[in-house]
Amino acid sequence: MVRAACDSVIYHSAIFKQRSSAVRSTLTLILALLSLAGCTVNPVTGQSEFALIGDEAVIQQGVAAYAPLQQQGGGLYTVDPAVTEYVQGITMRLTEVSDAPLDYDIVVLNDSTPNAWALPGGKLAVNRGLLLALENEAELAAVIGHEIIHAAARHGGRRTNRNLVLQGLIMFADVASEESEFRDQLMGGAGTAAQAISQGYSRSDEMMADEYGMEYMRRAGYDPAAAVALQEKFVELSGDHRSNLLERLFASHPPSRDRVRRNRETLARLGSGGEIGQTRYEKALEYLRAKQPAYKAFDRGTQLLAAGEYDAAFASARRAISLEPKEARFYGLMGEIHLARGQFRDAHLSFDSALKRDDAFYLYYLGRGHAYAGLGQQTNARNDFQRSGELLPNSDASSGLGRLALAAGDVAEAKSRFRQAVQLGGDNGEAAQAFLRLDIADAPGTYIQTVGSVSPSNGAVIGLISNRTDLAIADVVIEFRAFRDGRQITRQVRIPKLAAKGRVSIQSGWTFSEQSPIGNLNVRAVAASVD
Ligand SMILES: [Zn+2]
Repeated sequence: MVRAACDSVIYHSAIFKQRSSAVRSTLTLILALLSLAGCTVNPVTGQSEFALIGDEAVIQQGVAAYAPLQQQGGGLYTVDPAVTEYVQGITMRLTEVSDAPLDYDIVVLNDSTPNAWALPGGKLAVNRGLLLALENEAELAAVIGHEIIHAAARHGGRRTNRNLVLQGLIMFADVASEESEFRDQLMGGAGTAAQAISQGYSRSDEMMADEYGMEYMRRAGYDPAAAVALQEKFVELSGDHRSNLLERLFASHPPSRDRVRRNRETLARLGSGGEIGQTRYEKALEYLRAKQPAYKAFDRGTQLLAAGEYDAAFASARRAISLEPKEARFYGLMGEIHLARGQFRDAHLSFDSALKRDDAFYLYYLGRGHAYAGLGQQTNARNDFQRSGELLPNSDASSGLGRLALAAGDVAEAKSRFRQAVQLGGDNGEAAQAFLRLDIADAPGTYIQTVGSVSPSNGAVIGLISNRTDLAIADVVIEFRAFRDGRQITRQVRIPKLAAKGRVSIQSGWTFSEQSPIGNLNVRAVAASVD
């Protein structure tokens, strides 16, 4: 049992090898982690099983990832704190009967997608959108019970290990990676680490979370029949093409007829009956439900902004604000629209309004940073980009800091920030180009491949020069070095322009002959710049 489970090491490392083009140092780090691997006892089932790293380390990773993942998930829903307190109360009722003594915590995220997630260490989150999709307290208890099992049985530990390892990598890559490794990564098409994130739970994890989640519901006094009803509803919705919003939930917790059938069996064993909590739920959600049109307008405005329809987006943002003036996100959207239009003064005011209502969401600092940068207030811009990056490391903030450093003449800092931006992923190529521009002067040999050769027809000593980058390179200086008659000779040849991915052959002006042989020929690029 234990041994078979531990064999999954091979499976994991095979996955990582496939992705090894992402970052070479990934493999080193993962190998280091694998050496920490051991078998631990699952607190829910009591069975031994493989865990990628020891409990304490997994729990610490979960705890450390909690805050940035909340940011990534839309930040906290703060307008009606009573909703969060209500959800926390139900969670406490369930964790009090749970098998794993963890420091449980749950937050309500400000996102309309009906989703919920769990991290090792008992760190849970439920989206505003899921609360609105549920009908009673027992259904919510079913969702939370299910997530508690993922956290307590360390499903999260196994699933998020890949995520967390990669995210940890992203955060530490700047310190750990060698400059040259990063350049290789840049040449091979950067930013793959972030793509490796987010795989769903396994089928057996889902079954187990359902089964024990219902058991916890039973123990806490809720009717486990609500879990079956909820699953049935999800199966129905998942077949409905209109319910795109539910995709994310289904991606990590795929519903199926099979699951419904298994849950019915569990229900038959546990017996139905218990609290449903319909009225309580309706009362707790009353305010949020009343404000749902405001969030619909906000979601619509966000889509319109992405589509470049600024006027319509602006109308949606205004409508959202008129329906719910307390929601910071709505002012944030307005700020984004102003930014997209280059209206930096208005953008600044909107992000200020957002921050007045919620000063703990990275997007508002990021947006205000852009506004300050547009207004030429560089110190303020730097502070805001920094704060944004502290809340959630993101390529946009890093790029912003890179541009500010460059404007201030600090090339080393600029390079480090652009590199960070590329490594964080989500860069549209601008940061990669900016890095390349700065780096090519320092390390032209990395980007320009050179091969020395002697023409067999006439003995001319030539260099075959190729540009490995997607950028046109200018003012390339190629240096030829060799030995003739026991003395070193050198010559430099300038190439005014080298097209993207272009190749040329250049003459050194030297000729090789039997009477006058040349030895130890070495050709390299010693200078270059990007137009
Ligand atoms: Zn699940």
